Amino acid sequence: MSRFFTSKYSSLTPYTPGEQPKDLEYVKLNTNESPFAPSPSVAKKVEQEANKLMLYSDPECVDLRKKMSKVFGVKSENIIMTNGSDEVLNFAFMAFADQKNPLIFPDITYGFYPVFAELNGIPYQEIPLKSDFSIDINDYLGKNKTIVIANPNAPTGLLLSLEKIEKIVSSNPQNIVIIDEAYIDFGGESAIKLTEKYDNLLVTGTFSKSRSLAGGRLGFGIANEKIINDLNTIKYSTNPYNVNRLTAAAGKAVLDENDYYLNNCKKIIENREFTKLELENLGFEVLNSSANFLFAKSEKIDGETLYKELKKKGVLVRHFEKERIKNYNRITIGTKEQMETLIQKIKEIFKEKQL
Ligand code: PMP
Repeated sequence: MSRFFTSKYSSLTPYTPGEQPKDLEYVKLNTNESPFAPSPSVAKKVEQEANKLMLYSDPECVDLRKKMSKVFGVKSENIIMTNGSDEVLNFAFMAFADQKNPLIFPDITYGFYPVFAELNGIPYQEIPLKSDFSIDINDYLGKNKTIVIANPNAPTGLLLSLEKIEKIVSSNPQNIVIIDEAYIDFGGESAIKLTEKYDNLLVTGTFSKSRSLAGGRLGFGIANEKIINDLNTIKYSTNPYNVNRLTAAAGKAVLDENDYYLNNCKKIIENREFTKLELENLGFEVLNSSANFLFAKSEKIDGETLYKELKKKGVLVRHFEKERIKNYNRITIGTKEQMETLIQKIKEIFKEKQL
């Protein structure tokens, strides 16, 4: 740390992104990316847009929001586009949480929530998930606090029904409820349709998972127009050109071929169910995921050892140090071939260790 780092930030523990190694051709199942490349039109549109890179991007993302509006069935005024959904989450924490409106979220959830809270000096409370890792919605009813829930949750993959989400939203009319739908396209029902009915609901989403654009960094928030205006106040006070030209072009091309991406989601769901069965046959306990990853543990081998052994064999999965989940690994769902490799490597490890 330099001697100039202000005390406001010097005690921050930053978020640790999943490894992005360059030394080996890994079967990369550790950061919940899509195994499928974007459709070819994305590269074409990005190339055309490159000629205009001397000009700033459109800070309002007008064309992109028009296409979003068609695909998601909401008005342009109800949408904000951001640099990944991490950015809209940070904007939302800045806009809607403070000492008077502390945050609550589950103890096991997306690791960026406590980081953004600390970055912005927002007090937060982590509510323990039940012993089966599910969310007890009674913990979130009538709380009068700013609530953030990832649905499906990460890294568990467990889904809350839309009915339960609505109960949480309707019982907290004085506070914003943020539903982070990064993984909703892999089996859940989106709460976007509730944003017309409830003025305290913000739904966030991303192009990083189901839409194959993790490296493009494109996310969005959908809510009542007044909430979007507040988020824009934060955006225009930090980075008005938050979505660059190439990403906006890529995003538009993706939305033009939405069916291709929804079809990829179907393949990922099939591969997920295949992998779940295979892991269960090997004695793993696997949570019922509605996301593009599985959360699994085995009595035969601890989480960290399995992670390390798989890495030696060229397969990357995600292991978390947190006490409650340290016996688990989060395994991103890739192509059928990648998942077969994973299973094969686990079998080899079990054989070598005589498990
Ligand atoms: N929410 C959850 C639950 C996530 O797992 C992630 C991805 N790490 C994000 C949001 C942010 O994704 P992105 O910034 O790529 O949109």
